[in-house]
Amino acid sequence: QAKENGRNDFQYYTKEMNAQSHEMLNLEEELRRAVKAGEFVLHYQPQVDLQTGALSRLEALIRWQHPERGMLAPGTFIPVLEETGLIEPVGEWVVREAVRQCAVWKEMELPPVTVAVNLSVRQFANLNIAEAIERIVTEAGIPPACLELEITESVLMADAFDGAEALRALSQRGLRVAVDDFGTGYCALHYLRRLPVNTLKVDHSFVSDLEGDPTTAAIVSAIITLGHDLGCKVVAEGVETLAQCNHLHRLGCDLAQGYLYYRPCPPEEIEPLLQGGNHGHYKVQ
Ligand code: C2E
Ligand code: MG
Ligand code: MG
Ligand code: MG
Repeated sequence: QAKENGRNDFQYYTKEMNAQSHEMLNLEEELRRAVKAGEFVLHYQPQVDLQTGALSRLEALIRWQHPERGMLAPGTFIPVLEETGLIEPVGEWVVREAVRQCAVWKEMELPPVTVAVNLSVRQFANLNIAEAIERIVTEAGIPPACLELEITESVLMADAFDGAEALRALSQRGLRVAVDDFGTGYCALHYLRRLPVNTLKVDHSFVSDLEGDPTTAAIVSAIITLGHDLGCKVVAEGVETLAQCNHLHRLGCDLAQGYLYYRPCPPEEIEPLLQGGNHGHYKVQ
């Protein structure tokens, strides 16, 4: 009896595993096809200055324009791109596309804007990544400081990755550096102090707990103070309510990014916003 059960469990388990790896393989094949067919697009989400309401910074976020399944968010496919190494060509495309878009906006004589791009740890396998990015920016004729590279705190702390060296290489070329999802990755503060970082992004898990939980509010306050002591701008991610926005402003946070203001949207929807300059709505009390 027990033996039989055991065997059934085993069969059930392998069946489940097969289904899972089958799905992965399909996704991998589909992604290889998507890379060739150029099915990725970038959406842009504004970051709003909490003091002035000005909009001069955007985060570029990848989407997969799937021929049958529509617009897909990166949560499902970025891990597969990372596992397969496809993140290297796709990541390079992301940088090129964001820089190309920046140059188009410059050509249109829109007010200058800083665009932030997310980098995966795998992209640092290319030791010359900073040089490669610098070349892309220079060829497009935009100042390097118009591009900010977002690296998550966990990537920075990953073993076998000299985060400090990688960030220095970017910074020496005039490119900007942001630490993404800050507060979730146990970054040693003495380590952070030695890094050339321009921006700290407070992870949205802290922002969503800000109102209900005094401990979270204390942590966010500490992150903002730390960021300022390091000479960084502090951006809050995932700001969804006016209460959060006001609270962040009281704590001295510089910028906010979230659905309260704008969802990530295609570049043509960004243009009127950049043109508009200041945004009085949702301005803090
Ligand atoms: P992230 O860099 O932390 O990006 C912020 C995520 O929060 C985005 O999800 C954005 O759409 C979402 N978000 C913005 N405002 C709000 C809000 O008010 N509420 C909530 N609940 N969410 C909000 P998205 O676009 O699905 O991207 C997820 C993650 O995928 C990103 O997290 C980033 O780690 C990764 N990613 C996106 N684009 C790229 C890329 O081009 N390259 C790499 N390597 N990773 C990327
Ligand atoms: Mg990011
Ligand atoms: Mg983030
Ligand atoms: Mg995040």
